[in-house]
Amino acid sequence: MFDPFLLAQQVLDEAPYSKEAVLPLLTDDQVPLTDILAAAFRIRSRFFGKEVTLHILNNVQNGVCPEDCRYCAQSAGSSAAIEEYPMKPDNEILMEAERAYKNGACRYCMVFSGSGPEPDRIEHLCSLVREIKQRFSIEVCVSPGRIDYQQALRLRAAGLDRLNHNLNTSLQNYANICTTHTFTDRLETLRAARAADLAVCSGLIVGMGETAEDLVDIALTFRTLGVHSIPVNFLIPVSGQDIPGARPLTPEYCLRVLCMFRFLNPRTEIRMAAGRELHLRSLQVMGLFAANSLFLSGYLNVSGHPDVETLQMIRDAGFDIRSEIPLDELISSARESTGQVPLKTINDLRPCQTRES
Ligand code: SF4
Repeated sequence: MFDPFLLAQQVLDEAPYSKEAVLPLLTDDQVPLTDILAAAFRIRSRFFGKEVTLHILNNVQNGVCPEDCRYCAQSAGSSAAIEEYPMKPDNEILMEAERAYKNGACRYCMVFSGSGPEPDRIEHLCSLVREIKQRFSIEVCVSPGRIDYQQALRLRAAGLDRLNHNLNTSLQNYANICTTHTFTDRLETLRAARAADLAVCSGLIVGMGETAEDLVDIALTFRTLGVHSIPVNFLIPVSGQDIPGARPLTPEYCLRVLCMFRFLNPRTEIRMAAGRELHLRSLQVMGLFAANSLFLSGYLNVSGHPDVETLQMIRDAGFDIRSEIPLDELISSARESTGQVPLKTINDLRPCQTRES
C-alpha cells in the first residue's frame, strides 16, 4: 500500500526513491487526497512555512507569433480574438511595475510573445530591468522567448532576478502541441540561463494529452536543471485549436499534480498558475498546502478571480504573504478598488426584517 507520509519522510531525509515510487501520487485512487495533501504540506512547511508569494504578469507584447503552439491564443494558428500589440511603451511598463509592487507582488514578470528577442531588444530589456529595480523593491522576471548564453549573461549583469521559459509538456508529448520548435530548443534556453548563473522559472501546462508518467518526467527534468520556480498551469482552452489527447481535468487530479511537484522539487517555488480558478474551483484553497506561490490579477489573455478574493482566500486558510505591505492592508485596498463591502464580524450582518404581527 502506497504511503504518502513515508514518501514525504524520504524526501525530507533526502533518501533516494524511484520514479515508480512517486507515480501513485497521481494514479492510486485508493490513497485519500487529504493524506497526499497533508504529506505534501509537511514538505512545503519545512522549506516555506505558511508563506505565499504573489506574482503579477504583464503581457508587454501580445500576439502575432509565428510559432504554432496549439494551446496559445497568440500562436499563428489561433482563432482567439485577442488584442494584438507590439511592445508597450516604457512608461506603461513602469507604471504596471509600480502597480504590482503596490498590490503586494514580490515579483513582476514581463512576458513577450514571439520566438525570441530581436538583437536590440536585449539592451532595451536590460535598461528596463535596471530602472524597475532602482524604483521599486520588487524582483523582476522576464519571459523573452528563446535566448542564448551571451544574452543570458547580459540580462544577469543588468540585475535580472529570474528568467522564465516554460517547457510546457514532456519530451514525449511535445510534437503534439507544437511543430515549429522542439522540446530541446526550449531546454537549450534554460541550460544557457543556468550556465550564465541566472535563476530560472520554468513551468508546464497540465491537460495537454500528457500521461501521469510524462508529468513525473517533467518534474524530474526541472529538478535536474535546478529550476528555482515552477508555475503549474492547467489548460484554459482559449486558442480555438484542438490538442490531441487533451481531456478534462478534475480538481482532485490538479491537486495531486501540485503535490507531486512538491514531492519531487521540495525546495522549489511551486506556483498555482493559470487555470486554477477554472479547474480547481472550490478546492483552490487546498492547493496552498502544496504550492507556495500564485499569480494575482489574471493571466496573459484571460482574467482570474478578483484580487480581493484571492487575498482573502490566503488569509482565511491561515497563510501569509511575502510583502512589505501587510496582507490586511492589501485586502482593504483591494476591496476599496472593487467597491465590495466586507463582512468583518458577525455584527456586520444586517438583521432580517421581522414581520410585524
Ligand atoms: S507560447 Fe510563446 S512561442 Fe508559443 S505561440 Fe505563444 S507566444 Fe508564440
